[in-house]
Amino acid sequence: MSWPSNSGPTKTERAAWRDRYGETDAAAGIETTGAFEPFSQRNDIFTRAFWDPSVRSRQTDAFFASYRMQASYRKGDGFRQRDFALRNASWLISDIISNRSAEQGRREGFQAPIACDTPVAEAREDIDNPTAMATEIKRIARFFGGDLAGITDFDPRWLYTARVDTRDFSEADHDLPEGLTSVIVLGHQMDRDLVATYPSALAGAATGREYSHEAAIVLQLAAYIRNLGYQAVPSMNDTGLVIPYAVKAGLGEYARNQMVITPEYGPRLRFSKIFTNLPLAHDAPRKLGVAAFCNQCSECADACPVRALPFGAPAESAPDNMSAIRGVRKWTSDASACFGYWAKLQSDCAICMRVCPFNRDFSNFRNRLWLKLALGRWRRWALWWDKRSDRAKRMKPRDWWRPEE
Ligand code: SF4
Ligand code: SF4
Repeated sequence: MSWPSNSGPTKTERAAWRDRYGETDAAAGIETTGAFEPFSQRNDIFTRAFWDPSVRSRQTDAFFASYRMQASYRKGDGFRQRDFALRNASWLISDIISNRSAEQGRREGFQAPIACDTPVAEAREDIDNPTAMATEIKRIARFFGGDLAGITDFDPRWLYTARVDTRDFSEADHDLPEGLTSVIVLGHQMDRDLVATYPSALAGAATGREYSHEAAIVLQLAAYIRNLGYQAVPSMNDTGLVIPYAVKAGLGEYARNQMVITPEYGPRLRFSKIFTNLPLAHDAPRKLGVAAFCNQCSECADACPVRALPFGAPAESAPDNMSAIRGVRKWTSDASACFGYWAKLQSDCAICMRVCPFNRDFSNFRNRLWLKLALGRWRRWALWWDKRSDRAKRMKPRDWWRPEE
């Protein structure tokens, strides 16, 4: 399945979406406008870095090459050979999966769904209780290593209009099976100490480790579902925008730093997903109070070294922001400025994750108390308390390594 190329949604489709999703969108804090159009993955900044001369540069090529042992090691703390070595090793399993069909132009997990080697069983397990099945799927997701799991509708608005054929960066069909009904969204917690070292190549190990975990977990969970006789398509960053699915699945709320903030791990997560027709009850979205907090906070936007995050209220994206979805009123980053900084660093940046007041260890009682205040009418006080603490302070990468030295 994919959207017909170059044709946006019809009036009838828009009306049907309003009827079907209007109520749950409102509950999730998702606001679409008449200008809404599904997003083409060809326009995401990472894909543009291959075909769009306004994004591609020697620096962006060097950024991608640095993940394959061609980094320019520096004397600077956090950018030494061992920092890049740990980061690249963390990505290994994800790389193996994403490169295995490269010759067919399918970068699995990033620009194409992950191919599941397990066939769908001919015999189909009877499922007469979708609520019990949803509970079971979440349990199995945890068994395989997922930290959070939620389930939502297979909402076609968030599917990319097409996948990207990485041989020539043209658009190609997703080849999704017909009849999909649900999206299982999984959250994968990033290592707190590594996140504390952003910006550094070392910190990128927190990202890479979770992509490698994700690849294994979605493949295993999909294999379980396929053994039950149902379709399951494992997916990471490919095929559709995971953020609206995660929010609709009740895992958290969208924030100014472009992340989903969860009560369990704050913004310190990556998300993966599985598209399926397994009969499953869906979770309800939750308005936790994160957006209300973000309305009074700008820690992430203040800390961004290239001013890529917005101040002020959510708004529709600027018409020249090609890497942003059209017709959604939300906080939107300047992806070109953000990725330009990544390219300069030769590693991913998540300063906006590190400094966010919700980036805390919620197994700690004081932090749980802070959360309660931050999500209620004491939010101003919670913000004041956070600003007075040294919670957001960067950990020196050499301090992360010190126990080994
Ligand atoms: S990742 Fe870094 S550069 Fe990008 S928006 Fe966040 S702080 Fe800014
Ligand atoms: S730093 Fe503040 S404004 Fe930014 S996402 Fe976190 S809570 Fe929201």
